[in-house]
Amino acid sequence: MSDDLNMTDALRTRAEELDAADPLAKRRELFALDDGVVYLDGNSLGALARHVPARMADVIAREWGELRIRSWDESGWWTAPERIGDRIAPLVGAAPGQVVVGDSTSVNVFKALVGAVRLVDDAARDEILVDATTFPTDGYIAESAARMTGRRIVPVEPGDVPSAVGPRTAAALVNHVDYRTGRLHDLPGITAAVQGAGALAVWDLCHSAGALPVGLDAHGVDLAVGCTYKYLNGGPGSPAYLYVAERHQARFDSPLPGWNSHADPFAMTSGYAAADGVLRGRVGTPDILSMLALESALDVWDGVDLADVRAKSLALTDFFLECVAAYVPSGALRSLTPAAHAERGSQAALACTEAPAVMRELIARGVVGDLRRPDVLRFGFTPLYVGFADAERAARELSRVYGEVTRAA
Ligand SMILES: *Cc1c(COP(=O)(O)O)cnc(C)c1O
Repeated sequence: MSDDLNMTDALRTRAEELDAADPLAKRRELFALDDGVVYLDGNSLGALARHVPARMADVIAREWGELRIRSWDESGWWTAPERIGDRIAPLVGAAPGQVVVGDSTSVNVFKALVGAVRLVDDAARDEILVDATTFPTDGYIAESAARMTGRRIVPVEPGDVPSAVGPRTAAALVNHVDYRTGRLHDLPGITAAVQGAGALAVWDLCHSAGALPVGLDAHGVDLAVGCTYKYLNGGPGSPAYLYVAERHQARFDSPLPGWNSHADPFAMTSGYAAADGVLRGRVGTPDILSMLALESALDVWDGVDLADVRAKSLALTDFFLECVAAYVPSGALRSLTPAAHAERGSQAALACTEAPAVMRELIARGVVGDLRRPDVLRFGFTPLYVGFADAERAARELSRVYGEVTRAA
């Protein structure tokens, strides 16, 4: 047997052993995944949990079809945003009553950032620091929020926020995990530095919630937002969430004070009075179908220990990168994935000039990652349904495809 075959056998055996010892391995059965496909795009659209279609059939046929308007009360539709917020809360380390679900992440960035500037309420603090590497929508929204509040945007790399924050800073908006490279930023350290300078810290958790423990309360975060269709598997376009720390809620002044956030919405009065608590983060009538699909999807987290999720996520990305190093000629791919565990989210990012062709061919062969133009191959590792054999197979296919694509070029 050649060395290559020995190496492949050894890695496949290791993968089997790691899967056999994985406390989360059985969770995969909860998802509608076929064994022919290695799904490494759960950081973009989480997989469907098998039980969700039956729940949605009931929501549509009975709650909507039969109960109709009665469902706002009898089926708990009206209180869904705060009820589901409390289901998400433990996944981001928040005590109940601080998370409300609704709208998109983009809209929640707007609420959180304008809300933060209003909480600070100090004209001398005329700057908003924004993660220079942010997912674009946060930057676009922040720019508009700054114009509306008479502040100016200062783009800063997350690692430089502690030295950039100062007496002119109102708030800092940072992505917890970089969507491109998978780099995990120092939420406790950056939050402490921002608050030490008298400003507020607003975090975007889109690429961390559901992949690793976030610890919003433990680290004293002020405001946070996140989406639910990535690692939380809520479904395409499922509503996002807003976290407002309890200590800020009484003064939180939403820039979108729709009637759902009113203290007495059905009084239908012309004057606005904000509801108590995180409810004031609500806006208008919630998107009930998407919201209830999300609620149902969250069942897969029952009994899951986030420490196991984090341990498996790191082991998966380590093992995938080890397999890539073993199978792909050195120098062919440039890993953007931070080597240090403390700086790594739950994805591997590899750069190569042939990335578009490589990803197209990988997907055709059942290894589904995605491309961030121009040259980044992204592989998301969702610990509830991706296993070590998947990681090995993905690396093996990647090496074959890479060889074929570069020989053809
Ligand atoms: C996915 C993602 C978003 C998406 O925002 P939408 O309003 O849901 O389209 C925003 N910010 C970050 C950091 C993301 O990763």
